[in-house]
Amino acid sequence: MSNRWFPKPDDLNSTGESQEALHRHASEITRDRFGHSVFVRGVVEVSNFCRENCRYCGMRRSDRELSRYRADHDALAEMLIHHRPASLTDINIQSGEDPVAAREVVLPLVRTLRRETPLGVSVCLGTLSRDLSEDLREAGATMYILKFEISDPVLYRRLEAPGTLPERLEHLRWLASQGWKVSSGFIGGLPGQDVESWLGNIRLAASLPLIGCSVSPFVPGETTPLSGEPMADIEPTLNTMAAMRILQPDWIIPSVSALNLAEPGSGYRRGLAAGANLCTINLTPNRIRDDYLLYKRDRFIMTEERILQAIAEEGLEPSQTSLVRFLEESATPALEAAAVG
Ligand code: SF4
Repeated sequence: MSNRWFPKPDDLNSTGESQEALHRHASEITRDRFGHSVFVRGVVEVSNFCRENCRYCGMRRSDRELSRYRADHDALAEMLIHHRPASLTDINIQSGEDPVAAREVVLPLVRTLRRETPLGVSVCLGTLSRDLSEDLREAGATMYILKFEISDPVLYRRLEAPGTLPERLEHLRWLASQGWKVSSGFIGGLPGQDVESWLGNIRLAASLPLIGCSVSPFVPGETTPLSGEPMADIEPTLNTMAAMRILQPDWIIPSVSALNLAEPGSGYRRGLAAGANLCTINLTPNRIRDDYLLYKRDRFIMTEERILQAIAEEGLEPSQTSLVRFLEESATPALEAAAVG
């Protein structure tokens, strides 16, 4: 398979022997490129305020019942400087689209972490103003995660995904042009998403100036307008991860915690076996974590113990090099968008 290869509907829906071959090929490419190392980062979810209204998300602004919070800088800084898990090399600071939290919590936290720790810093904060984005970069954040969520423009509008798709893509390209290492992501198995629409996500991702991309299986949020819809099938999600690895050998592809909601106990490990090379330990303090309601209250929390166990069970090991340092030191062929047929 060369970079001209592009998955077909049969690849997306493959099971049995053809799926095993797809995942094995993706895994071999991952080991060739990254050895047996898997990046381990932490995530702190600093605010569940959001000005957007995505129909698939429990933190949408129309939800008046959700108890909203903004985390305290000092408590997070104390935890990340003095009590962070030893395996951690990077931290991702994430929130709903909340410019107030970005300015008042995230910005000072980035400065603190760059001053006090060797952690690589990434942010996932939605489409902020250019000024605020530049301030975050100057403060020392290196990587920006901006998920395009849905590539199909009709579905994007119908599900009220953030802003407009053209705006989001334009912002993503602008971030990359400013020197950010940009990662993106999308949701697989949304209601109304057919196979072609799903493949369109992969096609769009491969055309963007990215260093990585995630795919999350759709999980119907209990408090959302989509609560009665079925959860996504994990198999096309895993097949998508494998396809993205084959298309983009250099990409950083996370195994997402929602894989364990789609297939309790083994989904996360299967992600690592299908080409993922990034794990995320959830470090959001317990008392606020339950209100970070992307899906539902009984979240599957990835602790350090669970992450290290999954990595070991797959015969892998945590990377000693931070993800951000790796990206800074490596050539960036992934930034050349692949020509995919
Ligand atoms: S998916 Fe993100 S942008 Fe959309 S409502 Fe949820 S937190 Fe806000």
